[in-house]
Amino acid sequence: MLSFKLLLITVFISLFCIVNTSLAKVRCSKIEINANESLQKLQEGNARFIKTSYRHPHQSKYRRFEVLKGQHPFAVIITCSDSRVPPDIIFDQGLGDLFVIRNAGNVSDEHVIASVEYAVCHLGIPLVVVMGHQNCGAVTAALQDAKDSKHITNLVKSIKPAVEIARRKKGDLLDNSIRYNVQIVVNELKRSKPIIAKLAKEGSIKVLGAYYHLDTGKVDFIY
Ligand SMILES: [Zn+2]
Repeated sequence: MLSFKLLLITVFISLFCIVNTSLAKVRCSKIEINANESLQKLQEGNARFIKTSYRHPHQSKYRRFEVLKGQHPFAVIITCSDSRVPPDIIFDQGLGDLFVIRNAGNVSDEHVIASVEYAVCHLGIPLVVVMGHQNCGAVTAALQDAKDSKHITNLVKSIKPAVEIARRKKGDLLDNSIRYNVQIVVNELKRSKPIIAKLAKEGSIKVLGAYYHLDTGKVDFIY
């Protein structure tokens, strides 16, 4: 009986060690391209979009088969669900190029952070861009303190800290709120442990803010 108890204790300790070791050994994929190269590709794509001289890269039947084996996107874009802000079109990219995370108001939560962790650690993406946009309806809802449902109330709550900062500043309240909202999400990501903060601190990845002008089509990288 005593030996059976000892066996149980040994198995339990071994399992605990295996779990702990696997957590300690979370290793990210090697990042093959650097963030500046990724940023340049986004800027070049956006320049083509502004001039309407699109290349529509990586949208062929061949590309569909190519990405069947796996994906190697070069940038993560976190942006608003607004139908006027589709990153693949704004940056003139195609299948397998961008890892896109969207929700109303481009806010950060556990699911967004987990998606970014997957993208930077397992897909080896060096650049994360948080992109707000002109006339954002979600930020407008936060300004108006919308409470249509508990879900909308919660979303608005995530954006309110940006509105509070903007209320203390001069200038256009909506536009400033949109920009502070981006800044807050960028900072949240940079502080997010254990994965994103570590990679950002060691310089393996960059986390940037951006602002998309609906009227001109231009994306300004702002932080
Ligand atoms: Zn929006």
